[in-house]
Amino acid sequence: MSQAFLTYVAAILKAIEAEGMMKHERSLEGPQGARVMVGGRPMLNLCSNNYLGLADDPRLITAAKSAMDSHGYGMASVRFICGTQDLHKTLESRLAEFLGTDDALLFAACFDANGAVFEPLLGEQDAVISDSLNHASIIDGIRLCKARRFRFANNDMEDLQRQLQTARDGGARFILVVTDGVFSMDGSFANLADLTRIAAEYGALTMVDDCHATGFIGPKGRGTAAQAGVKVDLMTGTFGKALGGALGGYVAGPQAVIDLLRQRARPYLFSNALPPAVVGAALTALDLVERADDLRAQLAKNAAYWRAGLKGLGFNLLPGSHPIVPVMIGDAPLAQIFAKALDAQGVMVSAFFFPVVPRGQARIRTQMTAALTREDLDFGLAAFAASGRETGVLA
Ligand SMILES: *Cc1c(COP(=O)(O)O)cnc(C)c1O
Repeated sequence: MSQAFLTYVAAILKAIEAEGMMKHERSLEGPQGARVMVGGRPMLNLCSNNYLGLADDPRLITAAKSAMDSHGYGMASVRFICGTQDLHKTLESRLAEFLGTDDALLFAACFDANGAVFEPLLGEQDAVISDSLNHASIIDGIRLCKARRFRFANNDMEDLQRQLQTARDGGARFILVVTDGVFSMDGSFANLADLTRIAAEYGALTMVDDCHATGFIGPKGRGTAAQAGVKVDLMTGTFGKALGGALGGYVAGPQAVIDLLRQRARPYLFSNALPPAVVGAALTALDLVERADDLRAQLAKNAAYWRAGLKGLGFNLLPGSHPIVPVMIGDAPLAQIFAKALDAQGVMVSAFFFPVVPRGQARIRTQMTAALTREDLDFGLAAFAASGRETGVLA
């Protein structure tokens, strides 16, 4: 590689470091869980998407092993050539049944599902209207399609209505309104009751990405639409969070739409099939999740206890009820100093700052899981109190 190019790349890295924006990976020595080992130290983990604590569940490990024994290790093919097993078909219909849709289509990740879904369905005569806080994969997916693009301010239903009107006035044939079910940086819910009502007034289609909801929000964990008591046209989601936390994504919706995606969705046509271990364990994850009212109750209880505890200590939280509990710091360097102080106390959190969140709104995003015990949470609260005083985050 040319020295000029490597010098150019090194300069970018230096700039990232100078801005204090460098991300560093922590290496877990062992399975994901509420307590993890990092660099030989036991840490309390408050930053995973392991909402129901299933990431190291022995029943999923057994299911993965047994699917490998019966169906092998890898598929070495895309789905439509020779990469579809009975397991894949069973998971798709099981997932559709769980979500209450006609059918579902698996992808390697929800990032791929969102990258896949727009381009085959919408053309240049159409419009897509997207919430301003939607996940990066939705933004990228929309970029790949030819539809006209509109954006509405986060959860702002008046702005949504304005954008719908503009799209309609512009002569759009079909309009798709797309939102995250839960906004991952804020832990806030999309206003699906109003969004679906307003979309219906304009004859617009609706799509919800439920990555931070499937498995633990709504009755039986069926997600944000089920919780709001509304129907949406398309759902995308992941097996990489509450549903065992391995990997895999999906689009779920009406039969004809899934059939067309099976013909045209590029990440489906040109990327390898999910391995049997993951598919087999995902089937078991759905069974566990459907019966996991106890875990969902524990998760909600943990979230309420954690929010109340932090609030009682004087931290500035974004209001809400979701297990994502953002602790607002404001200043990006202070957020990192605070995260470091917590680390020294044996608590693992992640600081988020610009460009992931707006400037001046740096935060520590904590996340609850059902696997956290009351002792864990009290340990975490004590560490937050000590670190908060030590760094000046708490007055
Ligand atoms: C995590 C996430 C994704 C990506 O899911 P993967 O399966 O990890 O690719 C997409 N959308 C949202 C809203 C997410 O939170």
